[in-house]
Amino acid sequence: MKVARVWMFFMVSMLLLSVAACSNESTETGNENEKIHVTTTIAQIADGVKNIGGEYVEVDSLMGPGDDPHLYKASHSDIQKLQNADIIFYNGLHLEGKMLEIFENMSKEKPAYAIAEAIPEEKLRKDPQDPNIIDPHIWFNIDLWKLALTEVKKGLIELDPEHKEEYEKNTEAYFAKLDQLKKYAEEQMALIPDSQRVLVTAHDAFNYFGAAYNMEVKGLQGLSTDSEYGLGDIQHIVDVLVERNIKAVFIESSISERSIQAVIEGAKKKGHDVSIGGELYSDAMGEEGTEEGTYLGMYKHNVDTIVEALK
Ligand code: ZN
Repeated sequence: MKVARVWMFFMVSMLLLSVAACSNESTETGNENEKIHVTTTIAQIADGVKNIGGEYVEVDSLMGPGDDPHLYKASHSDIQKLQNADIIFYNGLHLEGKMLEIFENMSKEKPAYAIAEAIPEEKLRKDPQDPNIIDPHIWFNIDLWKLALTEVKKGLIELDPEHKEEYEKNTEAYFAKLDQLKKYAEEQMALIPDSQRVLVTAHDAFNYFGAAYNMEVKGLQGLSTDSEYGLGDIQHIVDVLVERNIKAVFIESSISERSIQAVIEGAKKKGHDVSIGGELYSDAMGEEGTEEGTYLGMYKHNVDTIVEALK
């Protein structure tokens, strides 16, 4: 009898404790621990999630300034961040070429969205060399980026339907900013004369950008930095620069500028001076806390740099 009473006391105490814990949780809504933990690959996606998730999310971006997603391999702490996440957003379309297996495993445990793969296939660009390969650099087409971010909104609402209205409102406000950016980019890019509408970069990250603003794009390496470039590629670009009298070429923040230097030297040997028009953000963004560390600022930087060098 005595044992039963002690047991009873124990059970009631436990019940009270758990009730206390529950009410504690509900009074601290908005608390750090209550936020949805989101892990993303590239910083462009992290920035989108922050804008859409607002105060309800805590975002960890695996890749930072200077990181090349094509070659990026997940470290132990990255795996931990992915394991601790409530939800994962990545680009997909093989952008994160060395992490496919990880995403496959993670998606068995938790929601993992390849946001670029939500875009209808007919809107995506194929590799001219191999139609089976799809160009993953969709963030450079602002309309496509909105479609990808709509997948972020969908994922957050599915996980946290309680804040559906807030996520929708945040998305609408952010999309208005993206529309403004698009208008700005169109106006600025139109200032480049027809004869200079060639964008030469280290790798083929700017095909969506070029298509959106009527620029011809020439990358030394293909769609992934995983591929090699040869003397033939350099020679071809040198010829284009010389024949069409192009003033400037561009380096990328996440790629060594060695290949672009070879192009500049090649043109010089043919008596044509080409300058470095500046550094563009292709697959990575700027430092966190700076304007270029946001999608809007990174995009504007690219537009301003290109227009300044080629107009
Ligand atoms: Zn790339």
